[in-house]
Amino acid sequence: MTFASLGLSEDIVRAVTERGYTEPTPIQLQAIPVVLAGNDLLAGAQTGTGKTAGFVLPILQRLSEKLVKGPSEGRPPIRTLILTPTRELAAQVEESVQHYGKYLKLNSMVMFGGVNINPQIQRLRSRVDILVATPGRLLDHVQQKTVDLSQIQILVLDEADRMLDMGFIRDIKRVMALIPKKRQTLLFSATFSNEIKTLAETLLNQPVTIEVARRNQTAELISQKAYAVDRARKRELLTHLIKENNWFQVLVFTRTKHAANHLAENLVKDGIPSMAIHGNKSQAARTRALKEFKGGSLQVLVATDIAARGIDISELPYVVNFELPNVAEDYVHRIGRTGRAGSVGEAVSLVCIDEDKLLTAIERLTKTQLDTIVLPGFEPDPSIKAEPILNGSQRGNAPRRDGHGGRSSGKPAGATGGARPAAKPAARAPALNRTGGRNR
Ligand code: AMP
Repeated sequence: MTFASLGLSEDIVRAVTERGYTEPTPIQLQAIPVVLAGNDLLAGAQTGTGKTAGFVLPILQRLSEKLVKGPSEGRPPIRTLILTPTRELAAQVEESVQHYGKYLKLNSMVMFGGVNINPQIQRLRSRVDILVATPGRLLDHVQQKTVDLSQIQILVLDEADRMLDMGFIRDIKRVMALIPKKRQTLLFSATFSNEIKTLAETLLNQPVTIEVARRNQTAELISQKAYAVDRARKRELLTHLIKENNWFQVLVFTRTKHAANHLAENLVKDGIPSMAIHGNKSQAARTRALKEFKGGSLQVLVATDIAARGIDISELPYVVNFELPNVAEDYVHRIGRTGRAGSVGEAVSLVCIDEDKLLTAIERLTKTQLDTIVLPGFEPDPSIKAEPILNGSQRGNAPRRDGHGGRSSGKPAGATGGARPAAKPAARAPALNRTGGRNR
């Protein structure tokens, strides 16, 4: 199947061919005809699947088929609105619009917060066919009456699940109230949670649902492994894996900012160039770290879910869950950073006894059983009992002078941990026995 046979114009096919795309990805194969036919779409697709071209290409086609001239006294209206959760994604999507639409007579604009609003107001005075925006800044413009959304024909919600995670639901509803009811709506989401289903029901009109990159299909693009390890030995194991396998461009996730800092510092002590990304680091500092990371001089970037959300990092060869996320959906977001269209990425989770419930929740959500590996020399100590994960942090991964997580109590196996409520240690057994420690 070629792009041309999907019904895309020569000008669009030429632009994608120049990008080096020889054939459509599965999400593109399914989404493009649906959008061209004018239907609403609910698509389960993650970053790395080619989802952006999946909606941008047919939108370009539809808009260029019906080029609108402005009235003699003014400019033509904005006809497509693409909402994204982050600035980086907005910039990335608009860049794609420019690339794929380079041979068309359509104009696009990106709009996000954190920068001066005046140049945006200025830009809105000239022709904009496709507006890519984050919800907050868009509403600022609405308030200032500098943007007119009354002629929108196509609305896209990209990474809708993240928008909900980031608390944009009210903003989305406010935007909805400003755009025509008669429109085409496309909703892209990595996961189909109940909230997403509810949102889809309110926003979409008899949508076609496609689930090319559904969570349980991530395995096709991403090899997922879990290492069973004691909480206090995770860093040692990570250093071992990085050095032994010569991993570069490793994105490591922790649950807390503190753990991210602590781990990055320790990896540096182990001779591995690493940096942590903080929520409170400036955009410039993040961009710089990211540039070094992408350029290859920074071997490891340690991030929390929140910090990683705001930055454009995808298509990485390795993603490591140093700590499993508290929310299973975050696992899907995290590992979605690896594996680009067509090539395999590796997602590695370091799982200690405290995290059995989290692992089970992830396996249930992704409908995948992770291969659990016990690396010789890193066998979990059976006398260590599960400890609760409080406020996202785990004792063993925070700095401890004894360097020993929960091991220092010296109590025999089976004894409970005194004041602390013990999570069920028994839950560990199946996770370890399933694959007999075999690597895939
Ligand atoms: P996305 O999922 O939209 O973030 O795209 C992931 C990556 O796949 C981007 O780097 C795109 O340039 C690339 N890509 C998109 N479509 C194709 C295609 N048909 N063939 C090869 N690469 C593609």
